[in-house]
Amino acid sequence: MEFATFADRVAAIDAESADLEIVAHVRDLFADAGDDLPVVARFVQGRVFPAWDSTTLDIGPNTCYEAIARAAGTNVDADDVEERLAERGEIGDVAASYDFGGQQGLGAFTGGGGDSTGSSGGDDLTVREVDETLAELAAAEGAGSQDRKVDLLFGLFNRCSSSEARYLARLVLSEMRIGVGEGAVRDAIAEAFDVPEDRVERALQVSNDYGQVARVARDAGVPGLDDIELELGRPVQAMLAQAGTVTDAIAEWDEAGVEWKYDGARIQLHYDPGGETRVFSRNMEEVTDALPEVVEFAAEALDEPVILDGEVVAIDEGGSPLPFQEVLKRFRRKHDVAKAREDVPVRPVFFDCLHAGGEDLLEVPLTSRHERLESVLAARPDQNQDPAEVDGLSLLWLTDDPDEIEAVDADALEAGHEGIMLKNPESAYSPGRRGKNWRKRKPDVETLDCVVTGAEWGEGRRATYLGTFELSVRNGDDLETVGKVATGITDEKLEELTELLDPHIAAEEGQDVELEPAVVFEVGYEEIQASPTYSSGYALRFPRFVGVRYDKGPEEADTLERVETLQGK
Ligand code: ATP
Repeated sequence: MEFATFADRVAAIDAESADLEIVAHVRDLFADAGDDLPVVARFVQGRVFPAWDSTTLDIGPNTCYEAIARAAGTNVDADDVEERLAERGEIGDVAASYDFGGQQGLGAFTGGGGDSTGSSGGDDLTVREVDETLAELAAAEGAGSQDRKVDLLFGLFNRCSSSEARYLARLVLSEMRIGVGEGAVRDAIAEAFDVPEDRVERALQVSNDYGQVARVARDAGVPGLDDIELELGRPVQAMLAQAGTVTDAIAEWDEAGVEWKYDGARIQLHYDPGGETRVFSRNMEEVTDALPEVVEFAAEALDEPVILDGEVVAIDEGGSPLPFQEVLKRFRRKHDVAKAREDVPVRPVFFDCLHAGGEDLLEVPLTSRHERLESVLAARPDQNQDPAEVDGLSLLWLTDDPDEIEAVDADALEAGHEGIMLKNPESAYSPGRRGKNWRKRKPDVETLDCVVTGAEWGEGRRATYLGTFELSVRNGDDLETVGKVATGITDEKLEELTELLDPHIAAEEGQDVELEPAVVFEVGYEEIQASPTYSSGYALRFPRFVGVRYDKGPEEADTLERVETLQGK
């Protein structure tokens, strides 16, 4: 296909605002794309490379401005391009405002050339040439590569008409913005080649390659689409979570899957004992070289080809996780990885298994995927077989008991992680979807300021710290208990709280400590329930420590009346 034809069709899409019409245009474009279908399917979304491929053109806007300026003629420079950009606000408009002339005139002179499938014998720029040139440009590296990139880009602009230049500039700078999203491409493939949308969707989720899926849909129909499988080394989009509550999760699923929500950064591990180990970030960027610990873990722990989903966490010397920003810094580290590794050592924890034993597991229920994960991670004879001791395994609890969930949450917080994830035990793995099958805890809408009226001494290495604080609210001149918060915060914070509360200890019995009302904690919670457990008649479900209200005394803490009002909400 000539690039001019592509640009005309894209201009028609650009001018359209109705979704159905956009899909119809894309459908027709796909039907007419011939051998260039895979490229067209990417370009129309503004993608130069498949979604799974983290190759980038690695050019800044200035490289593009310079190429445009050179193609536009001797009296234009990059500053001129930038000035026009300031006026017009959009690079496509700027590129289209120049008269490149170039080969366009020559093409017209020689009668054009090229056919609609792209095997051009003449001088008209084709979609394939743009694709090949951009691939060459992306591959240029080393000394002089920036000049080479400008030359290659200049070569393309030099052969563009203004409407071609408009969309070439937008493509190169990842600013296509013609309203063609993933959904539109999926629907257009289904309509153009008469295949069901859900089969296209599955194939897209598995391959992350719109070009490949479009071609297979056309050439091999549904059986071909169903044959598309996960490939080791090609990342899959991460399944995501919605906000939700424990109460809703139990009501909807009978039993909820509960896992720790680790405070780290998402990774996807592709391991092949006979081949490569590759690690990808949540955005499908390759981070293998930055995370040698994960590669070593795979070599030590795994026996078979697998794709695992998990989190890397950084644990400090005291055993608490470092903030996830520290972990993220590791992802970006290209040089001195050994030094970075000393400063912030990371380790992986896996919570899902997408492929094992030559089998794709996306459509298998979570519980079975988790069993597979467990067996994959415990495969080595020297590995402890007790799940709680298996290296790199995130545990999954199945329960309908809110108290058990609360205990898991408290443990996770205590260990310095973020709390819990709730998962539908029956659910498939849906790449890229933020569905209802994975839930993270809702952020606190309201918090309560409670007086700390009791505490417990910790155990083991926390024996000298107070923890598990009893919370009370005011009722006239009295204080009534509403719950306990196991702070789940760092040892440093516990130390600080212990120092703060120690002078107010009124009585002690075993580990239990009674405190004079003096300190006020701000506490978040999921909901307030009527409960005989506490003297107020109410209990905070899933209380979380937010902070100390240093600015408030006990007489300014929240009241039972407020608790009653909030409970009705
Ligand atoms: P979002 O993904 O919602 O844009 P985010 O990246 O901050 O935001 P959250 O939504 O808060 O993440 O939580 C989902 C993330 O939690 C996952 O992407 C993963 O990195 C992390 N996580 C930690 N533990 C787990 C677990 N057991 N199961 C799934 N995800 C987990």
